[in-house]
Amino acid sequence: MNSESSAAILRMRMVHRDLADAGITDESILNAFMKVPREDFVPPGTSLTDTYGNHPYPIGFGQTVSQPYIVAFMLQMLECGPGNSVLEIGTGSGYQTAILAAMGMEVVTLELIPDLAISARKAVLAVVPGADIQFIVGDGYNGWAPGAPYDRIVVSAAPSRMPDMLESQLNPAEGRLVLPMGEWFQRLISVTRIGDDLVMRKSLPVRFVPLVKPKQQ
Ligand code: SAH
Repeated sequence: MNSESSAAILRMRMVHRDLADAGITDESILNAFMKVPREDFVPPGTSLTDTYGNHPYPIGFGQTVSQPYIVAFMLQMLECGPGNSVLEIGTGSGYQTAILAAMGMEVVTLELIPDLAISARKAVLAVVPGADIQFIVGDGYNGWAPGAPYDRIVVSAAPSRMPDMLESQLNPAEGRLVLPMGEWFQRLISVTRIGDDLVMRKSLPVRFVPLVKPKQQ
């Protein structure tokens, strides 16, 4: 069997066993995971077993590509769909960016580390050519005001407390933000904005790399 068909088998198994059987029921999320080859988002030479294991994996610069189940779980918390505008903070490998684009969303994605942003852009556009994605190298701690308001915001690194500027960049008509929050002990949090009201929900305990905070000027 060639490695492309082995990867396709492992991808299908990941979607069934690690996502669908574990409670990911949104078909559009499952379909997007079927379409995006995770092997294009890990360093060259990574074994297929590591590529498709249900765990984070190092992508260099002290960062990791997130665990498939956690990416899917966060997207299910986001309740997003085609045509939604989404701000992603922490492009990393671009794996989640590709999933968002494959789901038909308009994506603005920010990454602090230029080398990661460059390789992510290349990998994402090879998988979803022509997708509506803006890749920005820069600090997303305070979101990205020029593209606001967003229907959805998803943060792939953990701040120790809620950054001040994110909630105000949400669409007032049920815009939603999902992020991991905390230091050593972190939880996934969702915040839904309804006009001036914010509804916060806590969810799973998780372990993400820290969201880098800009230095005080
Ligand atoms: N979803 C990504 C996760 C990457 S890890 C993936 O699956 O590959 C989190 C990323 O957030 C890292 O690449 C890190 O460089 C980036 N990051 C951390 N703090 C940031 C900040 N303030 N602004 C933008 N990106 C940040």
